Amino acid sequence: MYCYQCEQTAKGVACTKAGVCGKKPETAALQDLLIHMAKSVSMYAHRARALDVIDREADVFVIEALFTTVTNVNFDPERLAGLIRKGVGVRDNVRGLYEDAVRKDGGTPDELPDAATFQPEGDLDALTAQGEQVSIERRQTDLGSDIVGLQELMLYGLKGAAAYVDHAIVLGVEDDELYATFHKAMNYLARKDASAEELLEWCLWTGEINMRAMEVLDSRSDRWWLMVESGDVDWASHSNNIDNAIGAVHSGDDAFEGVVKWIEENGGWEDTALFLTSDHGHYFQLTQPEALAKTAPTP
Ligand code: SF4
Repeated sequence: MYCYQCEQTAKGVACTKAGVCGKKPETAALQDLLIHMAKSVSMYAHRARALDVIDREADVFVIEALFTTVTNVNFDPERLAGLIRKGVGVRDNVRGLYEDAVRKDGGTPDELPDAATFQPEGDLDALTAQGEQVSIERRQTDLGSDIVGLQELMLYGLKGAAAYVDHAIVLGVEDDELYATFHKAMNYLARKDASAEELLEWCLWTGEINMRAMEVLDSRSDRWWLMVESGDVDWASHSNNIDNAIGAVHSGDDAFEGVVKWIEENGGWEDTALFLTSDHGHYFQLTQPEALAKTAPTP
């Protein structure tokens, strides 16, 4: 297995034997395969939408698949396998809708990457083996660690936003524009020709989806709460990486500013309480403090 989805990742690099969170290699492989299945669904749902064909089942499936793979949400192999198999029916349905719509318009369906025609194997062992073929490690061999790292960064942003959207669905609120956004992003993640520059732009754009997801939650109720955790500062400290730790403080600052702006534009401080707290303390070892002192600007 190879998972670096959260800040608890082993040695600040990746969980490779078993998850620090308790995730087993089989579960990690099935989660990777479920994301592969979700990309397959989104490739067709994204194109169908461009032809004014909307398939709610495909919309909800992709949100559920993304949310299911967030750390500690669902580690049950049977449940993951069930979702992967369900995805085939969802994908084939939206694929049919898309292809009918294209032909009705006198066009020809797009030729799509391998994931579009993915077929899951029968039993858990075979499914796990399929998951290993689309694992982070395997994709790093094909695409390089920079591209895969950026793809994963974008994917984790989508997973976080999907957690909000999944809760909004349970509360009876759905947003068509948001569904379209998820399909567009997942369709992009299925591409093998992504560039680092484009992926960086997508990663920043993914942050904006979270703000939209908050608006959707807000439309349902006049009372709700949200907890946002900036995990990467912990991650950077575990790996003793001062550059990343400083960057994490800056990005945490940006996120805080974004939330403050949102509050001021949506009801203001009379209606809102905002708490900023640390999760826990952390030690950090500077093995060469003199090297840092030498590069510090003089006042
Ligand atoms: S989600 Fe679990 S397996 Fe993945 S990095 Fe975090 S602790 Fe490790």
